[in-house]
Parts: sequence; C-alpha cells; structure tokens
Amino acid sequence: MQLGIPKELVPGEHRVALIPETIGRLGDGVDVIVETGAGDAAGFPDDAYRKAGATIGDPWAADVVAKVAAPTAEEAGRLHDGQVLIAFLAPLTDTAGIERLATAGVNGFALESVPRITRAQPIDALSSQATVGGYKAALIAADRLPRFFPMLMTAAGTIPPAKVLILGAGVAGLQAIATARRLGAVVSAFDVRPAVREQVESLGATFLDLGILGEETEGGYASELTPEQQAAQQTELQARIPLFDAVITTAAIPGRPAPKLITAEAVRAMRPGSVIVDLAAETGGNCELTRPGEEIVESGVAIVGTTNLPSTMATHASQLLSRNVDSLLALIVVDGAVSLNWDDEVVAGTCVTRKESA
Ligand code: NAD
Repeated sequence: MQLGIPKELVPGEHRVALIPETIGRLGDGVDVIVETGAGDAAGFPDDAYRKAGATIGDPWAADVVAKVAAPTAEEAGRLHDGQVLIAFLAPLTDTAGIERLATAGVNGFALESVPRITRAQPIDALSSQATVGGYKAALIAADRLPRFFPMLMTAAGTIPPAKVLILGAGVAGLQAIATARRLGAVVSAFDVRPAVREQVESLGATFLDLGILGEETEGGYASELTPEQQAAQQTELQARIPLFDAVITTAAIPGRPAPKLITAEAVRAMRPGSVIVDLAAETGGNCELTRPGEEIVESGVAIVGTTNLPSTMATHASQLLSRNVDSLLALIVVDGAVSLNWDDEVVAGTCVTRKESA
C-alpha cells in the first residue's frame, strides 16, 4: 500500500501530516511517498524522510493521501476513484469541497469528524491542535501585555499578577488556563457547559459565574445559546471584563459562526493596554471587533485575530498530528492493504464521503 504526503499549499500553513519519526511505526507493507519540501516548514527536510525509509516523489497517486488542509480544486483533480484521503476537510462548512470529493469517488476521512469517544482519543486531531493553539494564545497574551503575568516583589516595588480571563474552556481554553497559570497569572474562566467548572477549578483557576447555563449535545459539544441567553451573556461579561488585563476567547459551536461574546462597547470599557486574543477568529471571532488574520489596536486594547496558531508551532503541531494520522491508519490499513470496516463507529463516523462500493 502506498501512503502519499503532499506539501501544503495554503499560505501560512507550515504543518505536515506525517513526520519522519512516524514512518517506522506504520508497519510492514506501507510505502511512504513524500512530496519534495513537504516537511521543510515544520523542520523535517526531505533527507530526514529518506533516512526514515520514505521516497520523495508524487504523493497524489497513492492509495491513501494524508494532508493537513482540505485539497484545493486543483489538488482534488489529482485524486482518483476509490482513493482514501485524510485531512481537515471542514465537512460542516466546505460544501463545494466535500462535493468534489464525493464526485471523484474518494473515501474522505475528515479529522474534524473523529467521534469524541475514549477509544478514538489517539486520533483526535481537533484536540491535539487545540492544545497547541491554547498554549500559544496564552503566550501571545503574555507577550502583547505591557505588564508582567506573575507577581513580582522587587526592591523597586511590588508588581501584582496579571488577571486573565479565558472564555470557552474546551481543549484550547483549558490549555490556555494551564499555560497562563504556569506564567503566574491569576486566571478566571467561563464556559456555557456546566461540567467544565470542575475542570477549570482543578487547574487552579476560578470559574466565573455569569448565571448562564447552556446545553451539552450528545457529542459533548455546547449547543448554541438562544438570542436572549446570548444578550444576557454579553451584558454580564461587559460588566466584568474591565477587571481583566487579558482575555483569551476560544468559544465555538461546530459548523456555526463563533458566538459573539465581547461587544465593541465591552472593548471600550477595558483599560488601555489590555489584550484580547481571539482564538475563534477563523470562524468570525468571539469579539465584535476582531479582524480575522490581523492584529489591531482599538481604544488602546490590542485585539489579536491571528488564525491557525497551531501552524506557528509547526514542529510539535505536526508531531502530534502525525500520531493522530498514524492511529487512524491503524484502523483502516490491515496487513498492508486498505480495508474499510464500516461497522467500526470510528471509521464510519470519520468518513464524510464514501465510494459506493467501498
Ligand atoms: P470547541 O472548540 O467546539 O468549543 C470550545 C468551547 O467553547 C467549548 O468548551 C464550548 O462549550 C464553549 N462555548 C461554546 N459557546 C460558548 C459561549 N457562548 N460562551 C462560552 N463558551 C462557549 O470544543 P472542544 O474544545 O473541541 O471540546 C468539546 C468537548 O469535547 C469538550 O467537552 C471536550 O472535553 C470534549 N472532548 C472529549 C474527548 C473524548 O475523547 N472524550 C476528546 C476531546 C474533547
């Protein structure tokens, strides 16, 4: 069986779907073909792949193609009937991309669709990449803030610790809490899922009670708030936000635009020099003033809307992603051949386009 690893084409995408170290884990009968330069931006040159046993060549004819971003129209044109594709395929939002794969007869496995059950945790690429994003968001907040995160007692006086608020305490939010705490900040957090309170507190942060309780879906995700609840959340937050030096927002509802938590008015109520890092920028942002992909200053408040933070730590982000891909391959490659067992809920749940006879 051949496994192809293309070079990512999306500007700013530095990750690669498979790193050399993983090749030795793939078992007998899997030949890896890596496009030249595929791992360069993540710190894995062609030579490292060659040493690990891969061939440098055209990855697109392989039985299985694994990449990071969904294929462009041009890339999808190089896929063939019956092939397996593994990538972040944005199945809930990229209708045209999914249709292209379906028309081409490709068995598309979307990394966003891995069921969030215990058995599938090693495949959970949303979690592995959100861990990177949450960590980096806390570092960006610390970097942009013109204040220390930790408390300092010096001969020149005492510096109080920074107060940091995390909105949305899923995988990214919890990692942001842990990172901000390690840097010495005093951290509060809020999430609409009540189950999160305990996790927030176990990390040494305070759960900010806004009096708003959302529903949790069967998959463990939050349901969208009603317009009344959303308005109440904005009002409650606006009253509390001026108390914080930095706010990191990670709130998301799968397949929906990011909920707006911080209004323009709330930003204006913050102290000059405060910082908002909006991890939801990619889906429109949790702050009304966020400009996706940009960093702006509004009323003295820095609003960071940088997208794809995992790509800014491409080496470790790729290492984690590579193990996720390897774990998924272990379910769909048996004795060196693709074997799709549709009775396996992880295989069936992750597959978003399916060749009729497959
Ligand atoms: P996500 O990225 O979809 O959303 C981030 C967070 O935003 C969530 O915690 C969500 O509750 C929160 N949110 C949504 N609307 C909000 C609002 N208006 N205000 C404040 N917060 C809001 O979520 P995620 O990080 O991918 O995790 C989703 C769930 O899946 C979590 O419960 C997580 O623990 C769970 N999970 C389970 C497994 C497993 O294998 N069992 C693995 C990974 C994640």
